[in-house]
Amino acid sequence: MYWQLAVERITSRWTGQNLVSRVIPVDPFDIVIFGATGDLARRKILPALFHRFVVGQIPDEARIIGTARRDINPCAFVAMVRNDLHAFASTAASKTEALTRFLERLQFVRLDATGDMGWSDLTGFLRPELKRAFCFSVSPTLFGPIAAKLYTTGVAHSESRIVVEKPFGHNLYAAQQLNASLLRNFSERQIYRIDHYLGKESVQNLMALRFANALWEPLWNARHIDHVQITVAESIGVSGRGEYYDSSGAMRDMIQNHLMQLLCLTAMEPPTRFEPNAVRDEKVKVIKALQPVRSMDVVRGQYSARDGKDGYRDHAGNADSLTECFVALKVNVGNWRWASAPFYLRTGKKLRARSSEIAIMFRDPPHMIFQDSEWPRGNALIIRLNPNEGITLHNTIKDPGPGGFRLTDVSLDMAFASALGDLEKPQDAYERLIMDVVRGDQTLFMRGDEVEAAWSWIDPIIATWEDARDVPLPYEPGGSGPEMADVLLRRDGREWRAIG
Ligand code: NAP
Repeated sequence: MYWQLAVERITSRWTGQNLVSRVIPVDPFDIVIFGATGDLARRKILPALFHRFVVGQIPDEARIIGTARRDINPCAFVAMVRNDLHAFASTAASKTEALTRFLERLQFVRLDATGDMGWSDLTGFLRPELKRAFCFSVSPTLFGPIAAKLYTTGVAHSESRIVVEKPFGHNLYAAQQLNASLLRNFSERQIYRIDHYLGKESVQNLMALRFANALWEPLWNARHIDHVQITVAESIGVSGRGEYYDSSGAMRDMIQNHLMQLLCLTAMEPPTRFEPNAVRDEKVKVIKALQPVRSMDVVRGQYSARDGKDGYRDHAGNADSLTECFVALKVNVGNWRWASAPFYLRTGKKLRARSSEIAIMFRDPPHMIFQDSEWPRGNALIIRLNPNEGITLHNTIKDPGPGGFRLTDVSLDMAFASALGDLEKPQDAYERLIMDVVRGDQTLFMRGDEVEAAWSWIDPIIATWEDARDVPLPYEPGGSGPEMADVLLRRDGREWRAIG
């Protein structure tokens, strides 16, 4: 069942039997959601809290306080959340008796983030003895004002935690301003900057794969790895949020955060401990080792219209838009481990399929002894983030049967759902991340200097496009992006893995 995911699995190393399965509850807490009537809170944060409550990880003493400006009463808020949980939470979970108990944990305070309304009411709801977490599920323009209000009204104390969403700035300068506005009233150890990719099981598994197995580390370098491909492809376009997207683009919306995080976890040195600053120090070192990207190593695209409609520019509502919704780039990590093994990153909208993966492409065998056979391709280790999270290892074996020694490629396939059993639905990233906030574990959150380092590397790439008024290349919806993205790899004697 779905909620068995929350249990700690303690498994016999030798027999594979589950020895103990138990939920590890967190301490009671008060969590305040600013923007509780907004899309993110309703679709992600509240369902995530509900799932953790159903499995018993959140104790009955916890309280969830929603706030927003609009004039609704607490009963209407609870009714809204009830409907949302039926729509967005696991069907099985929303049918349990826990739904009623969860709804009893909810409060609503009408509050204006930028004015005085509601702040003293909020203070009245919070219990002095408990931990407090504040989720900023509002526009980034409100992050600074809310942080200041929390401090000046005394709603937050020195042990309180604040959780902020992406986008964390639009460029380096904006990120620095935002960091400064939060750090004015909170210390770094109180700030949890979410990149929800880090909460994905498969992304955390990348760390387990690399640092809990002795097998890979000797091979994890440019001597054995030819290159790495990181793809995050989406089949949907930007319609519905085109206007927002057009002010951002794939480089800011995806590369600066999600793909950079995947790159960092793939490329980083083993941290000394699985501890927030040890992990984040190593990630920052990777970002600082990234070499400037040459303009010939970047391809930008926009999906075209079909029958004169539904192109990117139609969806963005901007006939002259120069914003990219596809980007592919070659990235060199300038250190001993990765010199000569580039990382190719690719992300885009309206591509063939929704599919995200990290592909570690190993080098070809150095000497071929099977003279009559086709040259086998190098091994590849594929870490699938979605759909069907898991790991595939491509090997070359003998093609069975007589008639010559032919070689063929087969894969060792591990889908997490079947390997770990009874996974009705994977845990949403927010479930893990919000529980980490309550536990006070910042390992899966971005540190301020990490975000700024990422912008320092990205800004010059974007500035080059903006200065040149670079026009993104058109590409067919449902394909794999502009032809030039293929050329980017073909030029180096390589090719992309097929999307999906
Ligand atoms: P949204 O749907 O526009 O919701 C914004 C919320 O903020 C509403 O509850 C709104 O309630 C409240 N609000 C606005 N002004 C306020 C004020 N002055 N005082 C108090 N509350 C105020 O936005 P969203 O999509 O949920 O996004 C929230 C944040 O998450 C943004 O930073 C966004 O970039 C980020 N994010 C969202 C998603 C997503 O899937 N939606 C994904 C990643 C990141 P009232 O109108 O009642 O005040």
